[in-house]
Amino acid sequence: MSWFRRVEKGIVTPTELKKETPDGLWHKCPECKAVTSKAEHRQNLYTCPKCDHHDRINSQEYFEILFDGNAFTELDENLSSGDPLHFVDTKAYPDRIKATQRKTNLKDAVRTAHGKANGLDLVVACMDFNFIGGSMGSVVGEKISRAIDYSRQHNIPFMMISKSGGARMMEAGFSLMQMAKTSAKLALLSEAKIPYISLLTDPTTGGVTASYAMLGDFNISEPGALIGFAGPRVIKETIGKDLPKGFQSAEFVLEHGFLDFIVHRKALKDRVAQLIAMLAPETAPLKEKTAKKSASK
Ligand SMILES: [Zn+2]
Repeated sequence: MSWFRRVEKGIVTPTELKKETPDGLWHKCPECKAVTSKAEHRQNLYTCPKCDHHDRINSQEYFEILFDGNAFTELDENLSSGDPLHFVDTKAYPDRIKATQRKTNLKDAVRTAHGKANGLDLVVACMDFNFIGGSMGSVVGEKISRAIDYSRQHNIPFMMISKSGGARMMEAGFSLMQMAKTSAKLALLSEAKIPYISLLTDPTTGGVTASYAMLGDFNISEPGALIGFAGPRVIKETIGKDLPKGFQSAEFVLEHGFLDFIVHRKALKDRVAQLIAMLAPETAPLKEKTAKKSASK
């Protein structure tokens, strides 16, 4: 005997009476499959409350996390890419740029801004992976270089948030030159004794890893981020050996001495502010000192 019996046959619910959850209310963790509401996920800074998986986020979210009251001044926001090589793959490069700009509402794969984190001045350059794989072309290199110049001119610590598939192949050699350019600018920043914090997020690879991402006074990362130069398949084929477990994860890279620490996204702002206060104690008190001096005169 069954527990339940259908008394009426052929029950049909009209469409307007069907109870459905609207799309986009829930978030499913790609790692542990736990389901949370979109609002809760956002409140958790796009990390999973169950397994701490860090979802990829973009410059908009990082600026919101880092800058007090989401207040900041964007630098060089209208720089856009040229087409020095008249490059055409499945699409002409200028068409690809225009289509991506329309789709993402971004001008290129990095945004730079000046704001305050816990009351301390900070210049942040943050890459956007959804703009042609966060690839580093001449605009990315130029904007980062100008942001570093801005840091130097105003004596403000610089933070880079990397998220990139590497150099932008549509600009070939022009992309590769950005590695030397940004590295040289960072050397000047170091000479001026202005702190540079580099945050490597999922994924940071190729020419970005091989230049500014690894040049921080502190190189830090988010849990589980993929960090590497070449992809695992290429390395495996080159050395002809199987790769160790967890190869190229932030934890593996930390264990092998290429990172200073891994920071949970919820602790990011406070840790960055701590580092700035520790590395550049003169930034905040300097103004007080000069104020006192001028007051005593
Ligand atoms: Zn999870």
